[in-house]
Amino acid sequence: MIVTVPLGVLKAGALAFSPPLPVDKLTALGRLEMGSLEKVVLRFESAFWSAAGEGDLAWLYLGEARGEFPFIVDITPDAGAPTLVLLHGGARAREQLDVRDDDTLVADALLVLERLHGGPIPAPLASHVTRWRSDPWSRGSYSFPALGQSMEDFDRLAAPVGDRVLFAGEATSRPYFGTVHGAVHSAIREAARLGVDGSGLPGV
Ligand SMILES: Cc1cc2nc3c(=O)[nH]c(=O)nc-3n(C[C@H](O)[C@H](O)[C@H](O)COP(=O)(O)OP(=O)(O)OC[C@H]3O[C@@H](n4cnc5c(N)ncnc54)[C@H](O)[C@@H]3O)c2cc1C
Repeated sequence: MIVTVPLGVLKAGALAFSPPLPVDKLTALGRLEMGSLEKVVLRFESAFWSAAGEGDLAWLYLGEARGEFPFIVDITPDAGAPTLVLLHGGARAREQLDVRDDDTLVADALLVLERLHGGPIPAPLASHVTRWRSDPWSRGSYSFPALGQSMEDFDRLAAPVGDRVLFAGEATSRPYFGTVHGAVHSAIREAARLGVDGSGLPGV
């Protein structure tokens, strides 16, 4: 069996292991952390910020409140309609998500856009607020090296238990943790452990 649930799900104890996981793995689980990277997505009737579809457009925003939507991306060409994505992450995102509902976060995001635009902006047609941290299937965005952990903790999480329970997923990839390629890397590693040649996999 290969366990591929996210680190946050393992940390939350959502899976029961019998016998319990070895101390080494539990120690690593206690030290590794899931970070937060969250988004507010806003769709507008028209692109008030500039003509859409003319290539990539993004803004870095440094507001008075540290970490308040520091990165904003125009995804209009991909979305097929005037759409902005405002990203926030780290401690501020965690705190804000805990105390602010979706409508308030959307209002915060609109205020930032007004400041950037230098005046009133139209109301969005639709919005979406991500909350990976409270999603029971992820419990965070992706792993990061937390204070007090060692890089070996990624290896401890990756170690098989009794050659019967294997572990994969981005948080088990010491070289590429936190990324899609980390997840793929771990899948190839565990496939090889089972004697499967992963060299034919897409992108390998
Ligand atoms: C906002 C954001 C932006 C990102 N940007 C990038 C980027 O630009 N580049 C990049 O490389 N990576 C990025 N990542 C990280 C990337 O998405 C992850 O590293 C990658 O998806 C991890 O893959 P995984 O297979 O380890 O875990 P996941 O893709 O999370 O897969 C785990 C699976 O386990 C399932 N699961 C959970 N709990 C249970 C359970 N109890 N029982 C059964 N199944 C369960 C889940 O539903 C899910 O399908 C980003 C992540 C976020 C959140």
